[in-house]
Amino acid sequence: IDFGFETIPEAEKISRVKGVFDSVASNYDLMNDAMSVGIHRVWKNMTITRLNPQPGERLLDVAGGTGDIARRFIRAADEVRMRRGGEPASAVVCDINDQMLLAGIDPEKDRGLNLTRICGNAECLPFEDGQFDAVTISFGIRNVTDRMEALREFRRVLKPGGRLGILEFTTPPAKFIQAFYDAYSFAVIPRLGQILTGDRDSYQYLVESIRKFPRQEVFAEMIREAGFAQVSYQDYSTGIAALHTGWKL
Ligand code: SAM
Repeated sequence: IDFGFETIPEAEKISRVKGVFDSVASNYDLMNDAMSVGIHRVWKNMTITRLNPQPGERLLDVAGGTGDIARRFIRAADEVRMRRGGEPASAVVCDINDQMLLAGIDPEKDRGLNLTRICGNAECLPFEDGQFDAVTISFGIRNVTDRMEALREFRRVLKPGGRLGILEFTTPPAKFIQAFYDAYSFAVIPRLGQILTGDRDSYQYLVESIRKFPRQEVFAEMIREAGFAQVSYQDYSTGIAALHTGWKL
């Protein structure tokens, strides 16, 4: 299906994105594993390694969904804390969709972690300026309607010297990979969605939104335009995903 996101009003766009994630919330983690054959976990670990979490730091994970990145960030900082001491790190998971936040609450996984969940839109974050040491958004920015506004918001809530990490699906540049990738994403993913969650349309939307996302260099330029310094990106798995990073100086 093509939701024709370019031609519909902003408010409606936001509510359609919300509808998609309402419908996938309870099966989200299962589908993520099935769709990426578990590789999203490796990409998330690589993202955390690059962000290099430190004791006492405060992370904002925007579009944080079930809280995957936030937990990994705190645990990685804890490993450093075991060796060097310091305060525990903390994280705020902010997501526009309360169903995704609720689906992520897991007393077992959350035990001992300083983790807060807040419902909010990336385009107008409900936080004061200069609050966070790091901001992440993982597989979320492509769903945001006004990405420039969101990037400016990420910069606003970061402390000076704070860092941004954006993990997102991208279209792989190599032609031979593209053919395989097209077949997999258009034929397999919507069918997997149908089988595992009974919801083909939401997964079809996810595939199409990846195609519409700007190429890595174009997106890096947008991040620079939003005021970030030392912007760069790393392709993961031949460019099926990429991590963009930047600093607020
Ligand atoms: N970050 C998680 C991960 O990596 O597994 C979840 C990613 S999920 C594909 C995308 C998330 O973006 C959903 O939870 C959705 O509700 C959220 N989202 C979409 N638009 C948003 C917006 N404008 N502001 C905040 N969150 C948004």
